[in-house]
This record gives sequence, structure tokens and C-alpha cells, in this order.
Amino acid sequence: MQPRVCPYCFKTFSNSFNLKQHTINVHIQSQGVACEICEKVVKNKWYLRKHLVTAHGAPLKRSKDGSATAAAAAAAAAAAQQQQQQQQKDKGEEDKEVEEEEEEEEEIVVDDLEPAVPSNKKGKKASSAK
Ligand SMILES: [Zn+2]
Ligand SMILES: [Zn+2]
Repeated sequence: MQPRVCPYCFKTFSNSFNLKQHTINVHIQSQGVACEICEKVVKNKWYLRKHLVTAHGAPLKRSKDGSATAAAAAAAAAAAQQQQQQQQKDKGEEDKEVEEEEEEEEEIVVDDLEPAVPSNKKGKKASSAK
């Protein structure tokens, strides 16, 4: 036997009659949908779903309409992508700095080996040859 689930508040009932009674008594008669968590009354079940997700962080798993779930998933994916891009940006800047340092070191090594020395070494040579 599959349990009947109220589409408004996701409460489960042993049979469809109980669910119908609950739906009418709790959700339809009141002309609005009350949030079971904070008792806020919203226009209809769609608003309640939105409210449950935005106010209480409820999952959209039971939603028959996939658009809301897809939107949430897309938003989450976009946020993750943005974070990744930010991380890559930070990394790239770090790499740049390291590269520059390496280049400088290489230049110094080449200077030491080259017989044709730059101006600052020329002065040293001249003083030692005195
Ligand atoms: Zn209900
Ligand atoms: Zn609420």
C-alpha cells in the first residue's frame, strides 16, 4: 500500500479519503495554505512550496513541476561555477608572481656565467685590477 501524501504539506495518510478530508479541512477551507513550520498563510500550494524552500530550506524533491527544481539546481550550479572561477583567478595571479621570480633568478645565473659582464660588474673588475 502506497501512503498518500498531501501535496500541500507532504503529510502522509493511510488512504485517499483521509487525505481528501485533510486537504479540505486544513488547506482548502482556510482559503490559503498555512506553513506547518511557521504558520504563515500563503495564497496556494505553489506559494507554500516557494516559501518552504526560501524560508525553511526545504528540498523540492516532491515537486511534480520540475521547473522549480531545475531553477534551484541551475542557481546552485551557477554559484559553484562562479566560486570555481574565482578560485582559478586567485590561482592564476599567484602563478604569475612565481613565474616572474623564476625569470629573475635565471637572469642572475646567466650573468655569472657570461664573460661579457654588465656595467655593475665592470666597475668591480676595475677596482680589483688597480
Ligand atoms: Zn496537508
Ligand atoms: Zn514557514
